Amino acid sequence: MTARLLSGKEFAAKFKEDAAKRARAIEAAHGVTPGLAVIIVGEDPASQVYVRNKDRACAELGIYSEVLRMPATTTKAELIAKIDELNYDKRIHGILVQLPLPEALHREEQEILDRIDPAKDVDGFHPVNVGRLSLGQSALVPCTPSGCLKMLELAGIPLDGQRAVIVGRSNIVGKPMAQLLLAKNATVTVCHSHTKDLAAVTREADILVAAVGKPKFITADMVKPGATVIDVGINRIAPKKLVGDVDFDAVQEVAGAITPVPGGVGLLTVAMLMENVVTAAELQLKS
Ligand code: NDP
Repeated sequence: MTARLLSGKEFAAKFKEDAAKRARAIEAAHGVTPGLAVIIVGEDPASQVYVRNKDRACAELGIYSEVLRMPATTTKAELIAKIDELNYDKRIHGILVQLPLPEALHREEQEILDRIDPAKDVDGFHPVNVGRLSLGQSALVPCTPSGCLKMLELAGIPLDGQRAVIVGRSNIVGKPMAQLLLAKNATVTVCHSHTKDLAAVTREADILVAAVGKPKFITADMVKPGATVIDVGINRIAPKKLVGDVDFDAVQEVAGAITPVPGGVGLLTVAMLMENVVTAAELQLKS
């Protein structure tokens, strides 16, 4: 059996088209362009690429975008002052601090993210949004897991009553993914580095989400025949070679549906960020 390929490109194009339509509707109704501000501190090369991609997506969709570059020597106080400025800036509906922050700010990361107005927290990392998601209330949800969920729904993958297993419990991917699948009535198990007999657990999954950060970690013997496999991992194994957390070639022979890397979940993340900016603008204009 060769699995159905869930192409991120196809779904991302659809999500972006929807976001662009909603951005135009805001413009028509309120004369306001939804706006995103991205703060990047330091020179991390991967972050530079991510920020460029976000800026490009904004331009493509008619969303106003500002990239604020701050030196690696930026202090917590300086960064917080910049966030405060943006919290009050009427042109800006979404604020994102690109992670990782330079080493010197690592320990203060959550405190810095907490300073973003929850209404503008388009990464969905603020405790207010995390709490609202876990309470089943409307919230700005982290972009990668919300993209995975929307893709599953649009692809017609059943979720209600299905057994979902997530490998990885990060605040960015694993935990919000679990909340989203739970809200769709899946029976959810979250695995991590202390999980015993991981393969026995993953083999029970109708939907298997891999967010581990280890190349080709999920092998074919860990997958139930016919399962849907979502590979969130992005691992650079050579200067120009990216692989996921799933051993794609072997697993596609067992799975019913699978996302590739590259060309899978990664593309959904930016599309969902655009959607979050538009949602944030709609909510701010309503209140
Ligand atoms: P983290 O490093 O924050 O979390 C990794 C998780 O994997 C942890 O919960 C860890 O467990 C678990 N883990 C590690 N080793 C094992 C093991 N042997 N068995 C079971 N679980 C294990 O990573 P992220 O969630 O931030 O990212 C995961 C991957 O997704 C990365 O490759 C990242 O690059 C990618 N990513 C992709 C995005 C996209 O846009 N497509 C966006 C965000 C991330 P424990 O908690 O016990 O340490």
